[in-house]
Amino acid sequence: MTEAYVEQGPIRPPSEAYSLLLRVTRNCPWNRCEFCHTYRGQRFSLRTVEEVERDIDTIREVVSAVISLSRSQGLGGEITASLANYILQHPRQFPEAYRTVVLWLYTGGKNVFLQDANNLVHKTKDLVEILEYLKRTFPSVERITSYARAKTVSGKSIEELHDLRQAGLSRIHIGLETGHDPLLKYIQKGVTAREQIDAGKKVKEAGISLSEYVVLGLGGKGMWREHAIETAEVLNQVDPDFIRVRTLKVLKTMVLYRKIEEGEFVLQNDDEVVCEERLLIESLNGIGSTFASDHILNLLEEVEGKLPEEKGKMLAVIDRYLALPKEERDHFRLGRRAGLYRSLNDLSDPEIRIRVDEILARIEAEGREPLEKIISQLMESFI
Ligand code: SF4
Repeated sequence: MTEAYVEQGPIRPPSEAYSLLLRVTRNCPWNRCEFCHTYRGQRFSLRTVEEVERDIDTIREVVSAVISLSRSQGLGGEITASLANYILQHPRQFPEAYRTVVLWLYTGGKNVFLQDANNLVHKTKDLVEILEYLKRTFPSVERITSYARAKTVSGKSIEELHDLRQAGLSRIHIGLETGHDPLLKYIQKGVTAREQIDAGKKVKEAGISLSEYVVLGLGGKGMWREHAIETAEVLNQVDPDFIRVRTLKVLKTMVLYRKIEEGEFVLQNDDEVVCEERLLIESLNGIGSTFASDHILNLLEEVEGKLPEEKGKMLAVIDRYLALPKEERDHFRLGRRAGLYRSLNDLSDPEIRIRVDEILARIEAEGREPLEKIISQLMESFI
């Protein structure tokens, strides 16, 4: 088995769970958003075109080795579940790159996600070179995606974005977070709503698919209403392909935590965040985006759908939750945060109910921590 090392960054969006991860930059060139700790203390750097191409070459060698292994096991080059398990269960024999590649191939081998936080800071011609090399090496790749900051995108010309599209960049994930300017400033996002709109429109005009991420709860008790309404306003102007929400969870390592300790920022509770989500969805008008709740931190994962036709369906899920008695809402929240419930219909599943009730009874019997604290700790385990 050949030695193989491919550099990897720490995160990818949930929708890229089955994508091959290719690190093009290290960390975040901005690194100041107060609700984000992913790259805290890590220095940003560009990876050179040669470095990234070397990783692509290594991945190609590992792909060949995995296919040879399949043939030697009589599988004819097919990547089966048994082959994937065999490689995953022998970490000493197969370095990380093998495990990554076999999972990628087993799940289709069609998508690649470029890491880390803002690859568009690369010179466009360098990124084009990387994309073209990637496509030449793996012609079967259908989707290449990347995170980018709106500020950086708004500084690119349509022609540059078009060149990236031509070279293979098919989707950009932008952390909009909020469209409310005072809140953008408060969290140190380093971008204005106007720039967010400009960036989003440019991405779409260049023919690149666009995901915009919104952080539910980011306005706290003080700015939740403006956060919902003005975020919807930005989204209404951009009409992104995807609106993806994730719920705020503040860890001690985040700057925002200090503001909470000092009483300057007051977190909303789950029910208030759900009301905010309702206002956000209600305020989305005249767009055809797909609304996705594809993050484990979101309480109501089933609030998903295509706008405008499924807006009513999404609001109905929220209304159904809000109409539950308080004990039932708490029961659902605990079950959801414990990873047992996924939808409100699961409340009718007697087996899951018993398990959630058992956890609740244990919490009450021990009486050490209030329910809110336990739910908060469970949420932390998801980050
Ligand atoms: S731009 Fe993104 S990765 Fe960088 S600090 Fe802000 S939220 Fe975190």
